[in-house]
Amino acid sequence: MEDLRIGVVGAAGFIGRDHVKRLTSVINHAKVTAVSDINFEKTKAVADTCGAKVFTDGEELINSPDVDAVVITSWDPTHAQFVRAAICAGKPVFCEKPLASTIEDCESVLAEEEKSGKRLVQLGFMRRYDPGYLEMKKIIDSGVLGKPLLVHCKSRTPVTPPKHTTRMHATNVVVHEVDVLRWLLNDEFTKAQVLFPRPTCFAPEGLQDPQLMLMTTKDGVVVDVEVAVNSHFGYEIQCEVVCEKGTVSLPQPSRAEVRLDEECSHAILNDWSKRFIEAYNDEFQSWVDHCLAGKKPVGASSWDGYVACAVGETLAKAQDSKLLEPITLPARPDFYEA
Ligand code: NAP
Repeated sequence: MEDLRIGVVGAAGFIGRDHVKRLTSVINHAKVTAVSDINFEKTKAVADTCGAKVFTDGEELINSPDVDAVVITSWDPTHAQFVRAAICAGKPVFCEKPLASTIEDCESVLAEEEKSGKRLVQLGFMRRYDPGYLEMKKIIDSGVLGKPLLVHCKSRTPVTPPKHTTRMHATNVVVHEVDVLRWLLNDEFTKAQVLFPRPTCFAPEGLQDPQLMLMTTKDGVVVDVEVAVNSHFGYEIQCEVVCEKGTVSLPQPSRAEVRLDEECSHAILNDWSKRFIEAYNDEFQSWVDHCLAGKKPVGASSWDGYVACAVGETLAKAQDSKLLEPITLPARPDFYEA
């Protein structure tokens, strides 16, 4: 079988470098043939690791005859432009979340993809591939626990990511919970509210951190998500679904337990890139296999990206209004039926 020739836009960033390495050394039948980023020297260094051609312009890379499929890992506000360019070129595109920074940009992607008549976009909501979440879904779907009633989530990052703002808790961070919970519960969010506790002393001046996000679903499930980007002690993702007959919780990564000096302890991860390695690998292998087979992708679609953005925007509105805000979504177009 021929390799899928992949072009990566935003290849010099944190996750871009990680994905280039993954596509080059872990994923079967994938070859990174082109890379681009606004940081030329750093892009050249990435290209040297995989023998790819360097492009200074992302759209030029997308239209290159050496590229069969595109991966986008650049900064959020650039995503929609590059996704649209890939659709126009008729090439499958894997875009890191979020799909776009605005609803209008998401809508423009949906319109372009529908116009093309082919599902070409997969969103990087990798938690759908995480073995722990998959196990939770299997148990919830089996019905053995009864109906879900409540969900408690925690998203904790030790240090504020670069360029992070108060609004991005809603538009960039919690969108992972929004997507994975829609998928886990087979449900949609209808209302959202945000509470601001006293900010931590570790938050940069003006950043509201942590935040408590409250959401209700169509079926009446109430969800709370603690979003913290200065947890200080480490990186941690937690999720507990409380159902009528019992509960199910996301397993934590296993760590050796140490007993020493009358204390028992185990290490905690310190960044996201180590938490979801298996999920990223499985997500990319599935995407590459589907691209090579000419099949539509099975991960999160641009419709899922649109919904996550709409919920994120409502949460951002609720940050300002301090009120319970309704989430209004149009009906899912037939084009995006599973
Ligand atoms: P990052 O380190 O800032 O990387 C983004 C890269 O894109 C930077 O090198 C940036 O250059 C470059 N860039 C900005 N504008 C560009 C343009 N017009 N053309 C080409 N390159 C451009 O950020 P990151 O942490 O890797 O995150 C990148 C994306 O991945 C974000 O959208 C983020 O939400 C997503 N992400 C997803 C996950 C996940 O778990 N699925 C995890 C982390 C990140 P400058 O630095 O000069 O701006």
